[in-house]
Amino acid sequence: MQFSKLRLTGFKSFVDPTDLLIRDGLTGVVGPNGCGKSNLLEALRWVMGENRASAMRGGGMEDVIFAGASTRPARNFAEVSLVLDNSDRLAPAGFNDSDSLEIVRRITRDAGSAYKVNTKDVRARDVQMLFADASTGAHSPALVRQGQISELINAKPKARRRILEEAAGISGLYQRRHEAELK
Ligand code: ATP
Ligand code: MG
Repeated sequence: MQFSKLRLTGFKSFVDPTDLLIRDGLTGVVGPNGCGKSNLLEALRWVMGENRASAMRGGGMEDVIFAGASTRPARNFAEVSLVLDNSDRLAPAGFNDSDSLEIVRRITRDAGSAYKVNTKDVRARDVQMLFADASTGAHSPALVRQGQISELINAKPKARRRILEEAAGISGLYQRRHEAELK
């Protein structure tokens, strides 16, 4: 499975629909300060199910919605779509019946977030599990935030272990065990 396209609409500074094609060999995004590089990575985390507003550098989740500019009014919703190439058919069970998967998350003011996979309504948890089982997700160690390296060096062993578990792709199993124990 590979990421192939990220589309942002009304998400932070990306007010008009903007496509980022993710092709083999893409190793970095460069641009002047404030042009939206971090916003792109945040969009990727967000569509994979990030639910902490602080990880989006906001006070509340609705802060990801385009807040308006001198020439443009604010928007009422933000949407991010992530297209995955599943031609190798390695998507987790339940999501593995097509060559391409489109995950969409939309947040509407006063109505919260809704998720879809290939146009079908799903829960946040389904999307989080899909990515956890594929050894990635909003907390994947492959996505390194500004300032995260120094945090990692100073992390306590327990926090560091969680990062290794994410990398090993077993965090989805822990989540399921936790839910089974609650039942
Ligand atoms: P740096 O090189 O400094 O790290 P960057 O390219 O990572 O910069 P970002 O942090 O992604 O830049 O983008 C910051 C810009 O996004 C700011 O101009 C900020 O005003 C804008 N922005 C953030 N949230 C919103 C929002 N909800 N609505 C409109 N614009 C927003
Ligand atoms: Mg940045």
